[in-house]
Amino acid sequence: MTKKKYIRLFKPSVGNEELKSIKSVFKHSWLGYGEKVRDFEKKFSSFIGTKHAIGLNSCTAALHLALAVNNFKKNKKVLVPSVTFSASAASILYNNLQPVFVDVNQEDLNLNIEDLKNKYDKDCVALIAVHFGGHPCEMDKIMSWARKKKIVVIEDCAHTCGGVYKSKRLGSWGDYGCFSFEDKKVITTGDGGMLVTNKTKNLKLLKSLSFHGWDQDPWKRHLKSNKKKSWYYEIQNLGFKYNMNNLLASMGLVQLKKLNNLNKRRIIILKRYLSGLKNCKNISPAFPYKLDKSCYWLLTFRTKKRDKIMSFLKKRGIATSVHIMPLPLHPLYKKFNKKVNHSLYVWKELFSLPFFPDIKNSQIDYVIKSVKEFDRKN
Ligand SMILES: *Cc1c(COP(=O)(O)O)cnc(C)c1O
Repeated sequence: MTKKKYIRLFKPSVGNEELKSIKSVFKHSWLGYGEKVRDFEKKFSSFIGTKHAIGLNSCTAALHLALAVNNFKKNKKVLVPSVTFSASAASILYNNLQPVFVDVNQEDLNLNIEDLKNKYDKDCVALIAVHFGGHPCEMDKIMSWARKKKIVVIEDCAHTCGGVYKSKRLGSWGDYGCFSFEDKKVITTGDGGMLVTNKTKNLKLLKSLSFHGWDQDPWKRHLKSNKKKSWYYEIQNLGFKYNMNNLLASMGLVQLKKLNNLNKRRIIILKRYLSGLKNCKNISPAFPYKLDKSCYWLLTFRTKKRDKIMSFLKKRGIATSVHIMPLPLHPLYKKFNKKVNHSLYVWKELFSLPFFPDIKNSQIDYVIKSVKEFDRKN
């Protein structure tokens, strides 16, 4: 019996170029924090359009540090959408702060600005704006409101890399931008993340927090190793082991070089899917996909027959998933506010289809054919 081909939901686009780059790190036998990380940080910040970038081992670390660097008083509140990945809210709890869940829009699953204003009170110190699925939040409106309230804005860009909103790249609108290079995300280093910012005055502390709280950059310290007492450093903060390393950065550099083409391919794939599925009676896109200069990570639809279509497609060898069950429904977050009525309703209709740059047109057409078949019969 031949095993039926399964179409995956996500798949990283990696190959010989990444291998070659990793090999060059092997050759120099310096796998840890070093020059490759510096190079990746520089190229990443200039790509996004911020002054600084700090290479980290995850986006979760980036979110944690983006809050930690502000030294907020214990139990202050941070606004966060209810439909997001757990790390967006966990970063708040890591800092002994309280999440305040904000409802999402009907049309695009992003922060609802009316509800944001309703949920705000004087104890709120920050806001985490998640570009869910890669669809941009209304950053112009969010920033002008947040500036008036004097709260820190963190963009969780884990679902996008290179997307533009009103001629500025996502991640460069807020005070901090956090990116993920986890296996399934837009570009990948296996695991990895990047924190971008224009706040030069916080850079030193951020770097220190990302490497054990040292007062010295470990790579600079190494370069001075012929000088006297080059071993010396001081621990000034309770830091973390969050740094990126040369191996990850060597992959990241190649992925960043490929990113524009990967994003172009993502747009072509989206167009094919959206036009193929535009006449379905039971299913509709969960985002008003804007395909100019965008970077979407999710191909998500809405239907009243969610569970039924998911098992139908599974039988045809097509992977699907649900992005994402609202956080207030999880045991850890039950004790926080649950007044996010639309989120609690909309997530039951969401399902995602296979979407990655290397998917073949024949695979896309097979998915479209299968979805249409379901739509006709139901
Ligand atoms: C994946 C994800 C993260 C965490 O990224 P890691 O690099 O795995 O830590 C954070 N926020 C959102 C919205 C995500 O989807």
